[in-house]
Amino acid sequence: DDYQASRGRYDSMSYRRCGTSGLDLPAISLGLWHNFGDDVPLDRQRAILRRAFDCGVTHFDLANNYGPPYGSAERNFGAIFAQDFRRYRDELILSTKAGYDMWPGPYGQGGGSRKYLLASLDQSLQRMGVDYVDIFYSHRFDETTPLEETLGALDTAVRQGKALYVGISSYSGQRTREAIEILRRLGTPLLIHQPSYSMLNRWVEDDLLDVLGVNGVGCIAFSPLAQGMLTDKYLKGVPEGSRAAQGKSLDPKLLTEDALKHVRALNRIAKTRGQSLAQLALAWVLRDARVTSALIGASSVQQLEGSLGALDNLDFADDELKKIDRHAVE
Ligand code: NDP
Repeated sequence: DDYQASRGRYDSMSYRRCGTSGLDLPAISLGLWHNFGDDVPLDRQRAILRRAFDCGVTHFDLANNYGPPYGSAERNFGAIFAQDFRRYRDELILSTKAGYDMWPGPYGQGGGSRKYLLASLDQSLQRMGVDYVDIFYSHRFDETTPLEETLGALDTAVRQGKALYVGISSYSGQRTREAIEILRRLGTPLLIHQPSYSMLNRWVEDDLLDVLGVNGVGCIAFSPLAQGMLTDKYLKGVPEGSRAAQGKSLDPKLLTEDALKHVRALNRIAKTRGQSLAQLALAWVLRDARVTSALIGASSVQQLEGSLGALDNLDFADDELKKIDRHAVE
């Protein structure tokens, strides 16, 4: 069936400026790390992507090795994009990354070489069936490669017209400072940093958010729901089909009685705000103006809609924040 995007797609989303750039991102963006590989029916993937775009989610985040198998999330996205979204290309921000192992041999094993990054981007464009991505990321810092080489490759991608902007992911505060400096010299300013951030995982508060804020670099927070831990789904055990049950990236060993005690307390705070725990968790990462967007995953349309409901209440009283700190960190 032919897809017509909803006319009201821009009515309820809010858009936030990415650092001091000219680019706006939706407050909530959708990532395709899980749930878009060949292990999931294409119809479900299509339904999630359509609903997201219909709700104003203009940003989809990918990487070369999202799947399983590696590359399949980009390929599946490409198939859906070709049918549903091609005519909306200029309403979309698409990103991809290279940094983890991808293909055999010394040039595809990840890291930050110029050879790997530029070859990987060409492969990604082909799988997605697009001429360019909006953002190309170095997926992780590689201490065995000069930062100048890695960032020089990002700069080249922009000059080749294969990416409009560049980003880095999971770089420390210090490495981010260096990257900002090098990219400035190259004439391709760092648009955005993609770190993990949630009520349960606050490493970015040490110094990274300050580095980004001072330098006008945007921030998109990944796994803001702590891969599902900050939702109500594990309160009564590990449900079948969930990420923890499937032996994927969420280790069920993390779901200790102690951790669940925190989660239950946070769930009660969410209730007093008239929100679900997932909605509280998303509103919480967005409380800091330096966080441009919360980058969620969803395995169903229903989850996606639930998470988007966070936008109905993004405000916090000081004592709510204090209470969250008391219950979320020991
Ligand atoms: P989240 O923390 O949002 O976790 C998403 C998972 O939580 C879903 O798959 C689902 O689990 C569960 N969930 C989501 N919404 C709800 C809800 N309303 N109620 C109950 N459960 C819910 O983020 P992800 O870990 O998926 O990461 C998001 C994106 O961030 C990725 O797709 C990727 O784009 C990016 N990312 C980047 C990384 C990097 O190194 N740069 C690393 C990791 C992620 P279930 O499947 O069990 O239903």
